[in-house]
Amino acid sequence: LEPAYQFMVRVRAPGGVATPEQWLVMDNVARKYGDGSLRLTTRQAFQMHGILKWNMKKNIKEINDSLLDTLAACGDVNRNVMCNPNPYQSKIHEDVYEWAKRLSDDLSPKTNAYHEIWLDEEKVVDSKEETEPLYGDVYLPRKFKIGIAVPPSNDVDIFSQDLGFIAVVEDDELQGFNVAVGGGMGMTHGDTATYPQLSRVIGFCKPDEVIEVAEHIIAIQRDYGNRSERKNARFKYTIDARGIDWVKNELNERLGWQLAEERPYHFEHNGDRYGWVKGQKGRWHLTLFIQNGRIKDTDDDQLKTGLREIAKIHTGDFRLTPNQNLVISNVTNYKKRQIDELVEKYGLSDGNNDSALRRNSMACVAFPTCELAMAESERYFPSLLDKLEGITEEAGLQDEDIIIRMSGCPNGCSRPALGEIGFIGKAPGKYNMYLGAGFAGDRLNKLYRENIGEEKILEELQPMIHQYAKERYEGESFGDYVIRAGYVKEVQSGLDFHE
Ligand code: SF4
Repeated sequence: LEPAYQFMVRVRAPGGVATPEQWLVMDNVARKYGDGSLRLTTRQAFQMHGILKWNMKKNIKEINDSLLDTLAACGDVNRNVMCNPNPYQSKIHEDVYEWAKRLSDDLSPKTNAYHEIWLDEEKVVDSKEETEPLYGDVYLPRKFKIGIAVPPSNDVDIFSQDLGFIAVVEDDELQGFNVAVGGGMGMTHGDTATYPQLSRVIGFCKPDEVIEVAEHIIAIQRDYGNRSERKNARFKYTIDARGIDWVKNELNERLGWQLAEERPYHFEHNGDRYGWVKGQKGRWHLTLFIQNGRIKDTDDDQLKTGLREIAKIHTGDFRLTPNQNLVISNVTNYKKRQIDELVEKYGLSDGNNDSALRRNSMACVAFPTCELAMAESERYFPSLLDKLEGITEEAGLQDEDIIIRMSGCPNGCSRPALGEIGFIGKAPGKYNMYLGAGFAGDRLNKLYRENIGEEKILEELQPMIHQYAKERYEGESFGDYVIRAGYVKEVQSGLDFHE
């Protein structure tokens, strides 16, 4: 007899797109093999928790049969490629989504080991003879993350990615992408050699140059990344150690041609916009707020059942957003009526009427399933938000978008360093509180208070939020205000995050 080991399974879906059939498979395997719930992640992937070891193979096989997979959803390789699920610009989104898929396919490990181990496929080649063209024998020094943004939305938090492509659109046509390198959220408490960092734009490439650029950038990290200190192994540290001009020159040299000058771009926000919108070709898209991306039935609501019923009749697709929310997308006029009835019946859009603060919130999983957690996150954050909503309401700010994020450890899965208010767990019930990130995900926040519990959090934020309500300039975001009011210094780069 062996203990009932449990696992988390992460299923990648490039750009967060899943068909209704795939949704039903996710729903079913989570019920059959897991704890019954599904988690939409901040990287537009699915997670399911509590898969017992002896069910792993069956679980992965059923996922694979649905044409989704778990390959490279973890590990020191390129992870799920994110892209903007913007339903307002369907044609551009479709173009961008195609590039996300092509990147994902091209950068997937070519090993057959996954299929041999999990899918019982025949061993066709000795692993010693197998060649991994991009990753080589030892893969990358650390995980690698890619995202594609379509301005003015920065919902993929493009500057948090190791490699970001910012779509440049002119006359409704995709012209190409600005290339940004060296972002990443993780750090280690008490180690100032580690820090969150934002990527920097190094140039522009045409759409058909994207794959080549991505491959060479990954190869640079493969060849120069720090393999002796894992905490300093992400691409951001490789770049900061050698300089942004070095990476630009190295890339141009490997390409044999030069990236063009970066093109102008402008981001307005990094959150989601909720409710129905009509896109191109007369199709409708409904964005639903899903608190912390957790899809399950509770005594109070039937979120999972409701979405299952929609998947049974839906002829479009589902799009997981980078903020852990869900778009029911590409809905025809005829289906819209039926879907609206189900949304109403199961109360699926109730969250869309939550306060603006809650709708702009994200928490990572943390306890009880993440072994790295130092403090609660997903299970605790909603109750902290209840209290903070009392304060924003008193101050008349219930409709004010303020980005607020919590992570149970400094690994930063909910991208807390990009919260106008960010919390990172230190110990049970204790958090570091950070303030002052940019509303469009373009500036890191800064440590304001260390190791504080709920009482102190509320004591600090109460007067600050009231003061913001009274003193803000027109259109001034909370993150900008706390810097102007002197609560924290503006962070220019990850290198001054700890100063
Ligand atoms: Fe786990 Fe830390 Fe990620 Fe939260 S941020 S899910 S605690 S690794």
